[in-house]
Amino acid sequence: MTDALSPTGVAPAVSPFRPDTLAVRAGLHRTPFDEMSEALFLTQGYVYPNAANAEAAFAGEIDRYQYSRYGNPTVTTFEERLAAIEGAEACFATATGMAAVFVSLASILKQGSRLVAARALFGSSIAVFDDYFAQWGIVVDYVDAHDNADWERALATPADAIYIESPTNPMQDVVDIPFVAALSKKAGALFIVDNVFATPLGQKPLELGADAVVYSATKHIDGQGRVLGGAILGSAEYVNGPVRTMVRTMGATMSPFTAWVLAKSLETLSLRVRAMAASAADLAAWFEAHPKVALARYPLLPSHPQYERAKAQMTLGGTLVTIDIALPEGTDPHGDEAKAAAFRFMDALQVVDISNNLGDAKSIVTHPATTTHRKLGAKGRAAVGMSAATVRISIGLEDVEDLREDFARALDAV
Ligand SMILES: *Cc1c(COP(=O)(O)O)cnc(C)c1O
Repeated sequence: MTDALSPTGVAPAVSPFRPDTLAVRAGLHRTPFDEMSEALFLTQGYVYPNAANAEAAFAGEIDRYQYSRYGNPTVTTFEERLAAIEGAEACFATATGMAAVFVSLASILKQGSRLVAARALFGSSIAVFDDYFAQWGIVVDYVDAHDNADWERALATPADAIYIESPTNPMQDVVDIPFVAALSKKAGALFIVDNVFATPLGQKPLELGADAVVYSATKHIDGQGRVLGGAILGSAEYVNGPVRTMVRTMGATMSPFTAWVLAKSLETLSLRVRAMAASAADLAAWFEAHPKVALARYPLLPSHPQYERAKAQMTLGGTLVTIDIALPEGTDPHGDEAKAAAFRFMDALQVVDISNNLGDAKSIVTHPATTTHRKLGAKGRAAVGMSAATVRISIGLEDVEDLREDFARALDAV
């Protein structure tokens, strides 16, 4: 795995090594200085040995680094490493997760194209579809993504792209990825999965039949609250074709510094995500049994409405637990009293932080109704099963007993 510097960003499609080995070894291209750690090429451009070499590079006759908006060796390291972990043919890194979401679709859709998307998506993704794509003459149809009958109805008509998250944010509904994949082939659509909630460790959408995967690397991949980043993974034809061309041109490239932070983060991704998921599974069962909790949602809890589906396609349940605080009989779940109960719980926490990030080493609580899902309105929130008493909890790396004591104290304060 110490092959020559390669500007292609293409990972070996078939590797003899397992993901945990690839996470610390793939994409490592040591320079003549024999450094141990991955080098950080904090450079905006590259020099040519002579004018003819520059001419050949611009003519596309030779493959070499030309400018860091087009490619950078440290960014290549991150791309190759993530592609190897995901088992994808190719990966292209972007400045943020939203740049990945946008480019994954904008690079292949045009006026008159049809996009079929899940109703329950990250707020900014919906804003991109409704406020921009729709204006550009792209038809956007939404489906209840956990309902297979709704997919059958929506994909009876040809489509150009399908876009989902599974599990969804924050209610953790699980989409039947192999089922949608089979329909996507018949509909002629490119099937893209935002795999942030499941993480690269917990779910392999490409193996389940999806065509492409996007990540906000800001979440578990960094996992330590430092940088923003994103990635698009899939076939070399798609990633090194329309995706690469669009990012290079419009400029949402990942910075080399960010790529260096994220390449090092990938070395510990498996350790962090497995530990966080173990604590999340433990606490999800504990929340479910707690009298002050009306509902606990976690994909691998047997009470989850799509438990069998989750077990079939996820190897880890993820690091998030979503709860509804129990309310006295007759309380409006979308009203001020429900919100006040959720706020009392959040404000009483002493270890866990209030923030809107997720996947971090530090545990975090979020009140979706007043922050991340504010724009949906009470009706929109009700449609995806969320209320003012809903709290999303991202479980970090603290000792699980300290977290349990913190949550127990806060639930007593409700
Ligand atoms: C955070 C997030 C994004 C957007 O990523 P940024 O890095 O914030 O741009 C997209 N999808 C999901 C599911 C996310 O959680």
